[in-house]
Amino acid sequence: MDQADVLIVGGGHGGAQAALALRQHGFDGSILLVGREPELPYERPPLSKEYLAGDKPFERLLLRPAQVWADKRIEMRLGRSVVALDPAARTATLDDGATIAYLHLIWAAGGDPRRLPGENPNLAGVHTVRTRADVDLMIAEVDAGAKRTVVIGGGYIGLEAAAVLTKLGLSVTLLEALPRVLARVAGEELSTFYEAEHRAHGVDLRTGVTVAAIEGQDTVSSVRLAEGDVVPADMVIVGIGIVPAAGPLLAAGAAGGNGVDVDELCRTSLRDVYAIGDCAAHASAFADGAVIRLESVQNANDMATTAARAICGDPQPYRATPWFWSNQYDLRLQTVGLSAGHDATVVRGDPAARSFSVIYLKGGKVIALDCVNAVKDYAQGRKLVENRSAPDPAQLADTAIPLKELA
Ligand SMILES: Cc1cc2nc3c(=O)[nH]c(=O)nc-3n(C[C@H](O)[C@H](O)[C@H](O)COP(=O)(O)OP(=O)(O)OC[C@H]3O[C@@H](n4cnc5c(N)ncnc54)[C@H](O)[C@@H]3O)c2cc1C
Repeated sequence: MDQADVLIVGGGHGGAQAALALRQHGFDGSILLVGREPELPYERPPLSKEYLAGDKPFERLLLRPAQVWADKRIEMRLGRSVVALDPAARTATLDDGATIAYLHLIWAAGGDPRRLPGENPNLAGVHTVRTRADVDLMIAEVDAGAKRTVVIGGGYIGLEAAAVLTKLGLSVTLLEALPRVLARVAGEELSTFYEAEHRAHGVDLRTGVTVAAIEGQDTVSSVRLAEGDVVPADMVIVGIGIVPAAGPLLAAGAAGGNGVDVDELCRTSLRDVYAIGDCAAHASAFADGAVIRLESVQNANDMATTAARAICGDPQPYRATPWFWSNQYDLRLQTVGLSAGHDATVVRGDPAARSFSVIYLKGGKVIALDCVNAVKDYAQGRKLVENRSAPDPAQLADTAIPLKELA
């Protein structure tokens, strides 16, 4: 049987950072990372941005050059999945039947794209956007002449893909079931702004519509809506969120449901088993203590460091401020804090000038900012969120007053 002092499951942002943070914090034991994808750890955000656009080759997405992993004695077993855990015996079983004994385990398996009910998984031309392999398939179809794209889902990934494909000259129809895009993550002002931007760039953006079926024989030909319309398609992108990848952990008895439950040190209910990143449900001070999962690079990296420090005997509770970004066309959105549960908003700057911020308040206190082409607001607004500042809304809206003066 193989063995590792720390076994890391998943070679994405969280898994890679966990390995690096262990070494940074002085861990000298053996580290083995098992990852389902064949590539060395790489950045996922560019998949729906520069990589899809052809602006960044894959080599520039690698989180570290191959040599770094070797130098730091971080062993990789790539193209392999962990399929079962035995927490009492402290062993993990891989899909090739190998068993690995561990002292500590960090589960960093992320999530798998959610699929539409009744979707035919074998229909060619239907894509999700989670891995390099997913995007390579899309790029090949664009290169082969795909022209009409339907994007299902108006979250960040769907909107980013729509922006890139429009720029590449494809016609794009974007379908969102809710009354507005970004409804789960942002306020109405931001949704309205992005809807207008996409329409101005030629996207046929439809909200409040339900997909009845993705149609085609072997290859996709159209998307039929419950409302009756049939939208012809050479290519369909399903961007409707993820299902946290926690099956083997939950089957082994870890508490959870929407992912795996973790405490403030990223410990699961199983002894010496940690979970981090997209699959880890935690109580967040930025959500009034509610148990949430965050899907962001910040969260994966900071949770990785939390787990690594705990293993190294230097525990520091996870309290990192959430931040996020999204690039669409020439618009850079930067978000700090969590806007869910806000009861008021202040718009600072002029959306028509394509540089503004939406500031979210709850009980008069600032809980989050969405800053569009407004780097200063983002940098200075962070303190407002961290201090739960309660400035006068009229002053927040006044662009002549720097936000740092209101923190
Ligand atoms: C297209 C796209 C764009 C994004 N853009 C942004 C952005 O702009 N800003 C931002 O902050 N975040 C963005 N995100 C989100 C961000 O990439 C994720 O939150 C982050 O990657 C989460 O890290 P993770 O380690 O939890 O999961 P991942 O990075 O998904 O890594 C999990 C890895 O585990 C592997 N795995 C799964 N199950 C097993 C198993 N049983 N055994 C072994 N390996 C397994 C998976 O194959 C995967 O490689 C984006 C995500 C996508 C898909």
